[in-house]
Amino acid sequence: MAKSHPPSFLEVPPTAGLPPYWGDLSPFAGSAAARGDLARAAADFLGVDDVQVECSGTASLVVALTALHRLSGRSVVVVPAYTCPLVALAVAHCGLELRLCDLAPGSIDFDAQQLEQACDRDTLAVVPTHLAGRVADVDAALAIARAVGAFVIEDAAQALGARRDGRPVGLDGDVGFFSLAVGKGLTTFEGGLIVARDATLRRELARTSREIVPYRFGWELRRSLQLLGYHALYRPSLLGLAYGAPLRRALRRGDPVAAVGDDFDADIPLHTLGRWRRSVGARAFARLPAFLETCTAQAARRKARLARIDGVDVVDDRPGAEGTWPFLLLRLRDEASRDAALRDLWGAGLGVSRLFIHALPDYGYLQPFVGKRAEESGAIPNARAFAATTLTVSNSPWLADAAFETICARLQAAVAAA
Ligand SMILES: *Cc1c(COP(=O)(O)O)cnc(C)c1O
Repeated sequence: MAKSHPPSFLEVPPTAGLPPYWGDLSPFAGSAAARGDLARAAADFLGVDDVQVECSGTASLVVALTALHRLSGRSVVVVPAYTCPLVALAVAHCGLELRLCDLAPGSIDFDAQQLEQACDRDTLAVVPTHLAGRVADVDAALAIARAVGAFVIEDAAQALGARRDGRPVGLDGDVGFFSLAVGKGLTTFEGGLIVARDATLRRELARTSREIVPYRFGWELRRSLQLLGYHALYRPSLLGLAYGAPLRRALRRGDPVAAVGDDFDADIPLHTLGRWRRSVGARAFARLPAFLETCTAQAARRKARLARIDGVDVVDDRPGAEGTWPFLLLRLRDEASRDAALRDLWGAGLGVSRLFIHALPDYGYLQPFVGKRAEESGAIPNARAFAATTLTVSNSPWLADAAFETICARLQAAVAAA
C-alpha cells in the first residue's frame, strides 16, 4: 500500500463539529435566540424544563458529584475503565474515590457482574457513559445502583441529541451532563450542560454551582479568544494548520496520547460561562437539529458500507436507541490490523483517529488519581481490548464520499494483510 498523502491541503476534522457561522458571534441582541439564553435554547432542544449551564463537561460532573456527595455523604464513584481521563480527574478534584468497572466484551456498557461487585453502601454514584454518541444501557446500571442506594450520573458528554425511545439521553439516571467542548459538536469552545428530572435535585445542583463556581474574568477572556480562533480556523482549508500539523508532529514523535489530546491538566478550571459565549451557543442551537439529521443519514449509509469489510465492526445502537454520529467507532479484528490501518490512515488528513488511547490505569499521568484500589477492584481486559482494537472515522460532512471510499479500501487492505 502506498504511503498516504494529505489530499492536497484539505484536512477533515476527526469529529463532526457543527460548522460555526460568523453570525453566531454577533454581540447585538435581536431575536429571542439571539438574546443568548443558552440554557433556554438547550432546554427547548432537549424538551425539558430546565438546563444548567457550566463551563465544561468536567465542571458539570464536578458540580453533580459535589451536590450528590452533600446529599448522601458517600464517596465512591464507579466509572467505566475505558472513558475520558477527565472523568477520573473530576472525581479526584472532588476528593472522592474512583472505582473502575470493566466493559462488557466489545461494548460501551459496564460488565454487569463486575458492576455489582464494585457497588456497595459506600457507592455515591455509578456513571454509565454514552460513548461516541452511542446510547448506553442506563437501565442495567440503574438497577444495580438502586439496589445499594447509589445515584446514577449519565455521562452524555459525547451524545448531545442522542435519544432512547424518543427521549433524550441523560434523563433516565438522576443527573445527566453534556459537553460543549471543541470537537464534540456544538461548541462554546468549552462548555457543559446538566440535566436532572427531579426538580428538588435541580435546585440542589443550582445551589451547589452558585457556591463553588465563581466568575473569573481571565478564564472568560481566554475562552472567548479561543472561540474566535475556532470560528476563524474550523474549515477544511485551515484545519491542516490548526489540527493536522500538531497531530502529525505528535505522531512523528510517537506520542499517541498527545495526538488525540488525552493529556489533560489535573487542574480543572471552574468558572461561570460568560454572557457572550452563551449567546453564541444559543444561536448555534438553532442549526443543531438539521445538522444532526444530516450526520445520522450519512452515518447510516457509511455503516452499511463498512459492514461489508471483513474484520471490521461498527459499534452501533441497540433497538429503540438513536444515538448521534460525531464519528463512526470501528472495532477491528485485532490490535495488529488496527495498528496497520492507523499507520496508513492516521495523520493522512482524512479524519481517521482514535478515541481514548488507554484504559484509565494505563495513562502514566493518571497514576496518582487512578491509584491502586482501582486496579484491585478487578481485572479490566475488555476495557484494554477496546482501547487496543478500536479506531474512529470522522462523520463530518466534509469527509467526501470519494475520501470515505479511500478509507474503506485502506481498511480492507490493512485487515487483509495483518
Ligand atoms: C469530553 C468528555 C468529558 C469531559 O467533557 P469536557 O467538556 O471536555 O470537560 C467527559 N466524559 C466524556 C466521555 C468525554 O468524552
